[in-house]
Amino acid sequence: MREIKHIAIFGAGGLGRNMAKLLGHKKTMRLVAACDSGGYALCPTGISAETLDLIPPGASVADLAGIGVASLDGIGDLLLCHEQYDGIFLSLPNLPNEFIPQIVQRIADSGFKGVVVDALKRTRAVEMILGMRETLQKAGITYITGAGATPGLLTAAAALAAQSFVEVESVDVYFGVGIANWDSYRATVREDIAHMDGFNVERVAQMSDEEVNAELDKRNGILELVNMEHADDIMLEVAGVVGREKVRVGGIVDTRNPKKPVSTNVKITGITFDGKRSSNTFILGDETSMAANVNGPALGYMKTAFWMNQQGISGVYTSAELMPRFPH
Ligand code: NAD
Repeated sequence: MREIKHIAIFGAGGLGRNMAKLLGHKKTMRLVAACDSGGYALCPTGISAETLDLIPPGASVADLAGIGVASLDGIGDLLLCHEQYDGIFLSLPNLPNEFIPQIVQRIADSGFKGVVVDALKRTRAVEMILGMRETLQKAGITYITGAGATPGLLTAAAALAAQSFVEVESVDVYFGVGIANWDSYRATVREDIAHMDGFNVERVAQMSDEEVNAELDKRNGILELVNMEHADDIMLEVAGVVGREKVRVGGIVDTRNPKKPVSTNVKITGITFDGKRSSNTFILGDETSMAANVNGPALGYMKTAFWMNQQGISGVYTSAELMPRFPH
């Protein structure tokens, strides 16, 4: 594998484009490929965030002069060139639940042998990825699932904070997200609407932009989410920290204001070896955006995955089972 890791972004939307900005701060990782529903761009010497900024939101990376190619299957085209990159960040919409697992199957079939990190959210989706352990192991891919913010940073923090206790009684995740405009994070907002009463992933996948706008109008742009089907539960169960029924996830998303409506936090309650009940709480700074809290951990886990891959370790792992490293 290369010393400076070549990275491909599958899904150059809200998170994907912010990942390009974050990669601009890293000396040991370089963005070389990106795709979206309009096509792909590939440049082994690097694609800068400034270059990506030349295309307006909503336009495709296919429009990038000299390196962009229009295509109905940018993912398939980039997979044909898989020797050009070492790591893939999956920032695709996951609607329906099977979408990203199907892409992962294509990655496994392509002959790619590097590392893959996703920021999946739904329990069912992470379960499907965990079911692909053998496939990914045989393919020689090191895959870390649930490596965003929640699941991801907060789940790993819960696994660490649980060490104070001999028995964990509950894990409560509560997140606040503020975005100026839902257009910048279409998949995230759609997937959040899917958690509201009367909606599901199949239904939101079929909704037009106008229908999404109408739902947001009804709620003044604010989505209040309770008892979400979030993979923090299965990940903490698989990591042996706590049964999934004891993990609760909720939050507030303001789709019209970049200020966080509440501070994102995770509270882990348990009993210590000497019989004391207590809670450890991890609170994120309000100035850290969703993109900072998803993409930072995703790259940190990518560094962990590169390290594992070099040790000959492949297969699927969750963020709660591992600690992210820090790429410079
Ligand atoms: P987005 O809608 O802004 O961008 C998605 C991108 O994927 C777009 O560029 C789109 O063109 C591209 N795309 C769609 N279908 C494609 C296809 N078939 N081939 C190639 N490209 C395709 O999405 P977003 O708001 O940035 O969210 C991305 C993902 O991140 C979502 O699945 C969301 O759930 C997840 N997310 C996770 C967390 C977390 O903490 N774990 C937080 C926020 C978002």
